[in-house]
Amino acid sequence: MKFGGTSVADAQCIQRVVDILEKHHKAGDELAVVVSAQRGVTDQLIAVATALPTAKDDTAIVPLIRALSKRHITTLEGAAPDYVAEVGADMEEHLIRLQNILFAIYNLRELTPRSKDYIISFGERLLAPILSAAIRQRGIASTVMDGCEAGILTTAQHGESMSLPDSDERIKRRIGPLLGKEIPVIMGFMGCTREGVLTTLGRSGSDYSASIVGAGIDADEIWTWTDVDGIMTCDPRVINDARVMTSLSYIEVMELSYFGAKVMHPRSIEPAMRKGILVRVKNTFNPGHPGTVIVRDGKRDHRVVKALTYIDKVAAINICGAQMIGRPGVAKAIFTILADHEVNVMMISQGSSEANISLIVDETHVSAAVKALGELTKQGVVRQVSHNHDVCAVAVVGAGMAGAPGTGGRIFTALGKAGVNVMMISQGSSEANISFVVSQNDGPRAVRVLHDEFHLSEESDE
Ligand code: ADP
Ligand code: ASP
Ligand code: MG
Repeated sequence: MKFGGTSVADAQCIQRVVDILEKHHKAGDELAVVVSAQRGVTDQLIAVATALPTAKDDTAIVPLIRALSKRHITTLEGAAPDYVAEVGADMEEHLIRLQNILFAIYNLRELTPRSKDYIISFGERLLAPILSAAIRQRGIASTVMDGCEAGILTTAQHGESMSLPDSDERIKRRIGPLLGKEIPVIMGFMGCTREGVLTTLGRSGSDYSASIVGAGIDADEIWTWTDVDGIMTCDPRVINDARVMTSLSYIEVMELSYFGAKVMHPRSIEPAMRKGILVRVKNTFNPGHPGTVIVRDGKRDHRVVKALTYIDKVAAINICGAQMIGRPGVAKAIFTILADHEVNVMMISQGSSEANISLIVDETHVSAAVKALGELTKQGVVRQVSHNHDVCAVAVVGAGMAGAPGTGGRIFTALGKAGVNVMMISQGSSEANISFVVSQNDGPRAVRVLHDEFHLSEESDE
């Protein structure tokens, strides 16, 4: 079971989490827990750490440490009163260490990806021992471990590390023997390299941690507890009548999360899918609701389109140059150089004249992409590279689209009628996804139009 930041936001929330765990423990379920930082803490750590190298002074550090200390001590006192001295002492040590590192970053005027990972892991490092103590407070044994101690071994891509195959066996060896005897609490969002250097798994990475741990211990089910009843037809902050879906397939959730549905980390389905483990998304604040079940073949319903997402933090890169016509190897040169610069390409589209290739990349990768492609311009491989931040990517997802002719027509007709201009289209080979790009202003409207066109707010016979 994984609990997100809102689920552990304060002492009362933690009590609710322990109620859930106690109930399952008493029913005889063997549990391992993965937990995130308290809501907002990772954001605070990132904001201060990234500002320090260019900050005019170091006055942001002490208030941050004080705020973290106050919030976590208050939570600890409310959630595990008998453990305030023990856990509080460790917490103070962590905070002193964090404070020292932040001063060092300011003085050195340098924040490396490796030191950033170390700093932003403190949210989980401070919170997990409180949850573990709260479980002990109820008379259930519990130990706490960080991602590395739990056995999560990762690549060294700091900020976006991926689990390595060896994690399975290590997790089984370390967590397996504890199951049933106690409830181990594992800090989400982090792992380590073979050399023992701490890494983080990307924003929302605790979902991924949960799936890695679940796969490692061959769990019967992986439950992700969050603050909504399940995965919805669209982000409820964009579409107010979005509906919770009963069941989805692994592929559908991968497409949704890859295209920005914030409810799940994009990689969090992979480990579960590899082992065929059922994933359930449930609401900590409404545990009686069945939530969403994610399995290999999400129940086919009569709907071809099940859900929509949109991401606005992307940019379009256009590569022009007639040199590409009939010349093999240009695409290879483009994608090789982008990969060498660690640019992740989300969407690709090539005009039939071959004179144009358009790419969609994460906004944070734009400058690296433009720099990389600039080298190809110098070499004469492509003529011109331009980019546009004023775009967003919309994805229409549903496994039923495979083999259902006319879905594309319906999507683009509805958008056309609403006057939404489509700048780029791409369909994944899984056919579970049709994605397209529109201007940033048109994004929410495009999503609204399609949510209505496919009647996604209405109950189906899922
Ligand atoms: P947690 O801290 O539990 O991991 P997150 O904030 O990361 O929670 O993710 C849950 C939030 O994701 C929801 O509160 C909701 O606002 C947002 N969200 C975006 N898209 C969707 C969607 N398709 N279904 C459900 N929630 C979504
Ligand atoms: N605390 C991390 C984040 O905010 C990981 C997570 O919440 O899953 O991204
Ligand atoms: Mg999350």
